[in-house]
Amino acid sequence: MSAPHASAAGVVTLTIGYLYPSVLSQYGDWGNVRCLQQRCHWRGIDVEILPLEVGTAIEASAVDFFFMGGGADSQQRLIARDLVMAKGDAIREAIDAGSVALLICAGYQMWGRRYRPFRGDDLEGLGIFDAETIHWAAEEKVTIRDITSAGRGRMVGNVVVEWEGTTLVGFENHGGRTYLGAGARPLGRVVVGAGNNGKDHTEGAIVRHAYGTYLHGPLLPKNPALADHLIRLALQRRYGEVPFPPLDDGLEGQAREVALHLHR
Ligand code: GLN
Repeated sequence: MSAPHASAAGVVTLTIGYLYPSVLSQYGDWGNVRCLQQRCHWRGIDVEILPLEVGTAIEASAVDFFFMGGGADSQQRLIARDLVMAKGDAIREAIDAGSVALLICAGYQMWGRRYRPFRGDDLEGLGIFDAETIHWAAEEKVTIRDITSAGRGRMVGNVVVEWEGTTLVGFENHGGRTYLGAGARPLGRVVVGAGNNGKDHTEGAIVRHAYGTYLHGPLLPKNPALADHLIRLALQRRYGEVPFPPLDDGLEGQAREVALHLHR
């Protein structure tokens, strides 16, 4: 891998393309972007955040790291056409060229082939993940009449996932059940919680450097190993290996222990 090609000023910059921040921000997932920004700042790495709202064009080669957060079915419906029809080709080009992506819940569902909400037409996805999602009420042909019936099959609670010899901790809140096809690799194995569908013990999906997951929290502050893994992948595409000193994750480790202790 070639030596780092920092910009003329010798500065390494991570460019994050933040998809639909004004629409998909219902579960505090923007905290992941803040975590990426801070863990880069502590290492002297600059971060540029590009808000990619409906109608905003994407220059595929400019984005090192895509981020897309969670939201309600109605919010997914608001962005679905723009994501697939207006941004789809540029996103696929960037992912094929090695850009990193972290997609949380609704964002994860929309990077699969299709999402069938509990009412209304199916939403076409990007098809980057070989996965399909169907809302539990659509799958079980249940009519949701009120908050009680809506909650019956909803997957809500703390989650612990085995990932690359360590664990990821987070929180899930979704009605959709995601089923992976043969072409999809799960992010990890569920130890506590439902994960993709509450049946096959898989959680999330990975293709190339695109990571999808149901873990809110936000995910990255309590899982610094994953945060740094994704940052390094994103920087390598543009700069090769860059100086990436370890950080003191004592506080993050304490937060993880509290989350893990709940389930011992
Ligand atoms: N609306 C989707 C569902 O209910 C995604 C929810 C989310 O982003 N937390 O499954």
